[in-house]
Amino acid sequence: MKGISVSKGVAIGKAYRLDSTNFCIIKHRILEADIEKEVVRFCQAIEKTKLQMAEIKKRAEKIADKYAVILDTYSLLLDDDILINDTIEIIKKHKTNAEWSLTQTLNNFLKHFNNINDDYLKGKKDDLDLLVQTILKNLVGHSQETISDISEPVIIATYSLSPSDTIMMPKNFVKGLVTETGGKTSHVGIFAAALGIPAITGVKEVTSKIKSGDQIIVDGIDGEVIISPSNKTIQQYENKQANYRIYEENLLTNIHQQAETLDGYQVKLLANIESNHEIKTLHKFGVEGVGLYRTEFLYMAAASLPRERELYENFKQVVQEMGNQPVVIRTLDIGMDKQLLSDSKNNEEDNPALGLRGIRLSLAKPQLLTDQLKGILRASSYGNVKILYPMISSATEIIQANKILEDAKNQLCKEQIPFNEKIEVGAMIETPAAAICIDHILNEVDYISIGTNDLIQYLLAVDRVNDSVAHLYQPFHPSVLRSLKNIMRSAENTDKKVSICGELGGDPMATMLLLGLGKIDALSMEPHSVPKVKKIIRTTRIQDAQKLADDVLKMSCPDEISSFITNEMRIRFPEDFDRNISFEEKLNPASNQ
Ligand code: PEP
Ligand code: MG
Repeated sequence: MKGISVSKGVAIGKAYRLDSTNFCIIKHRILEADIEKEVVRFCQAIEKTKLQMAEIKKRAEKIADKYAVILDTYSLLLDDDILINDTIEIIKKHKTNAEWSLTQTLNNFLKHFNNINDDYLKGKKDDLDLLVQTILKNLVGHSQETISDISEPVIIATYSLSPSDTIMMPKNFVKGLVTETGGKTSHVGIFAAALGIPAITGVKEVTSKIKSGDQIIVDGIDGEVIISPSNKTIQQYENKQANYRIYEENLLTNIHQQAETLDGYQVKLLANIESNHEIKTLHKFGVEGVGLYRTEFLYMAAASLPRERELYENFKQVVQEMGNQPVVIRTLDIGMDKQLLSDSKNNEEDNPALGLRGIRLSLAKPQLLTDQLKGILRASSYGNVKILYPMISSATEIIQANKILEDAKNQLCKEQIPFNEKIEVGAMIETPAAAICIDHILNEVDYISIGTNDLIQYLLAVDRVNDSVAHLYQPFHPSVLRSLKNIMRSAENTDKKVSICGELGGDPMATMLLLGLGKIDALSMEPHSVPKVKKIIRTTRIQDAQKLADDVLKMSCPDEISSFITNEMRIRFPEDFDRNISFEEKLNPASNQ
């Protein structure tokens, strides 16, 4: 059975089918005189859930910081007026039981998510659903099937896994995870990846096919579940499992090495982060700084907008943890797929991708930008901080934003608060306008950071989160590659640094091509991609990379380019790109014959 691989590795063992089917909630009317009692019952269930979440969070912090952040979101949702007040209002207005009223609130709330295609938020939708299930369990006094009773090594197969289930899981005994719901960024995936447990989500109907005790294989590399495998298949996957472990261990041996090509060209490998909690784990991957701190996640879960002090405290923590290493803090890039929960008005735009997003919103609401810039400036006295403006489409926007930056600096001077006067300012290059007028942009900034995620979407006129045009979202499209080359060439004529912080920058399949296109000072990516990208850089010669780029730039068809690159990379780096060779056959002499 096929699903979405959310945590790599191979698990082989006995299945444990956890029953997590949702409640069937029945609507019933309550008497006028019982309304207050019903509200109290609901509030007690919320309080109980809050205590459970606090306990779970304590345990989570010991396991995975990134996971603890998700649980912060739960606490915020539990404090949120929308969930609690709306439910109480429904109880009072419609005289319906708390369980039913809560489900109605959830449905109204989920409608909000329906127009959003972002994977991250889709994961949040599942999480919210699970949180409501926990409250419902507390309302009906349901005693859960206890996952903590598991006392032998198993692979858990379940419809969905609640945060409490995930935390209560006896880690030593859980070898793998399979769920029917959940996307790439759902909490199950993040948690499993943090613990190194192979996991697959989105395996439709898996719970009706698997019984507890069945022998199963979870292949988190290729996103497959195999039920009742033959001995031969088990042996084949045992090899794959061993080979993948060796491969991962080998990759991590380069964490203290420079990302330098065979002919001495150095590239800094930086991390994209979304929360201050991620900082502590960065050293594991050999990251040399933060190349993109997406600050919008600080705003998205918040009921009210964070102000200067809160932002400053958050940024300061990141900067201090990173020591002398650079920390690039991007100003708010709200809009399109990332909306503020506290500002539903923005959702009403007909065409939000072309609407008030990124720097446009900041310039329209200068106080928002001032608070951010003052927070960043104050943190700059603790380390190597840089400012990055998102969604720039003309030099004028940078000039306007820099005026607000000057005002922010003046305010801090008056308040006698220290900051780095020479703080570097950069622009994201992610609109065709910025790519074409790159010389104008370069005149106004200290460095540029190419946001390939949006640059590809806007160049190709393909919505980056719309499944029906996903096949047209082609990073290896010639217009993308030409644009990148033009941007890099323009920067070569200046002393301004160039980095890439879109997904393409962290895709090892693209590393050699990017090196061949022109000047790159840094690549910023999901931290776990750093060792593999570094491996490619350390075994590449710039001359070869340039030859590869020249060959590719002569091609006109994106699919042709894509197959050419895949083929070239498989030949040059068989262990990294040809999965069959690296994990299944190579160390298994029997199957090679
Ligand atoms: C990008 O557009 O490439 C980028 C890094 O920013 P985001 O994905 O946050 O839009
Ligand atoms: Mg972007």
